[in-house]
Amino acid sequence: MNTQAWIERGDNCIATTYGRFPIVASKGDGCWLWDVEGNKYLDFLAGVAVNNLGHCHPKVVAALQQQAQTLIHCSNYYHIPNQIELAETLCRHSFGERVFFCNSGAEANEAAMKLVRKHSSEKNGNNRFTVITALASFHGRTIGTISATGQDAVRKGFTPVVPGFRYVPFGDIEAMSAAVTPEVCAVMLEPVQGEGGINVAPPGYLKAVRELCDQHKMLLIFDEVQVGCGRTGKLFAYQHDDVAPDIMTLAKALAGGAPIGAMVATHAAAAAFTPGSHGSTFGGNPLVTAAALATLDVLINDGVLENCVEMGNYLRQRLEELSARYSFCGEVRGRGLILGLQLSIEGAPLVKEALRRGMLINCTAGTVLRFVPPLIVTKAEIDHGMEILDAVFAQHNESR
Ligand SMILES: *Cc1c(COP(=O)(O)O)cnc(C)c1O
Repeated sequence: MNTQAWIERGDNCIATTYGRFPIVASKGDGCWLWDVEGNKYLDFLAGVAVNNLGHCHPKVVAALQQQAQTLIHCSNYYHIPNQIELAETLCRHSFGERVFFCNSGAEANEAAMKLVRKHSSEKNGNNRFTVITALASFHGRTIGTISATGQDAVRKGFTPVVPGFRYVPFGDIEAMSAAVTPEVCAVMLEPVQGEGGINVAPPGYLKAVRELCDQHKMLLIFDEVQVGCGRTGKLFAYQHDDVAPDIMTLAKALAGGAPIGAMVATHAAAAAFTPGSHGSTFGGNPLVTAAALATLDVLINDGVLENCVEMGNYLRQRLEELSARYSFCGEVRGRGLILGLQLSIEGAPLVKEALRRGMLINCTAGTVLRFVPPLIVTKAEIDHGMEILDAVFAQHNESR
């Protein structure tokens, strides 16, 4: 079956929720993805910051194989050793004391939003349920999380949304402070905005938000779905700042490509959940938690974070050099191996040309090229990617 035949079959049965690129994936290995025609692509999108250990990391594969022949699923009516060990690992390496498992980032945020409402209803009664989030944020695609997301575009056609959200400019503590009224029970922020254009919280901002939350007895949620799990060079992005949230949400890279979500919380916050408050059939099942345990083990013990810092610095430097040579390129921003290159033009045609030349990237916020390669990426792979990008940019200049 060739590319065109698959695309035609897909067009006749797959819901049209994605604008897909015209390649049909067949296999992956490390930083490389192959299509069904045998073409090979340097994967600097990495499943949108999911494949932090690259494709098919042998330790993740082995954990999945071993667990698949032992126990794939039971139910959260029973205790699950892998789930317990994973929660212990997450708590040991973060501020967390209790973990709720689910299957995606949106679900982790749903759990967080339910928890802050429940916590507030017990502490304050029923009228204090508003959550402040940031403009240009992204928190998922469910009705609840599009309500939380500070972008009108994701709500278009889906109104009425869930009440109780208020949006403020990201990085502006004055605006946040002005938005605090007696109805507000929590603040939810991404320490680095991913979909919004790779915007890093300015120095001191998260700490000032933490202080504001303490002052007004509001809970603080960090959505680390995209930037957690090593992406920024520390296991969790909040660890760059002298601050900890009450609740952190994780998903994407946590299980090396297997679907998982987690809400990590302090005991004081999490205690608002009692049996029956919330649940998930698959959440934290034996298979995905085996994959997550293997993923965290590699992240923490195999030098992956160190490589992320080193290669993040190198990629940033190479992107800055490239940017300086092209008039339509601007700022390079981000942290570790989540980097954005600001353009003064639409990014989509460049992404398309990069793909044609064998490199996978994408564009966020219309004009920001996003680079989120596997954290195991090598210098040689970055050099290869920069050669492709240079050719893409040069071709764009010629075609103008
Ligand atoms: C991807 C993402 C989500 C949504 O995760 P899903 O697994 O697609 O539901 C939520 N928040 C952030 C910051 C994300 O990047």
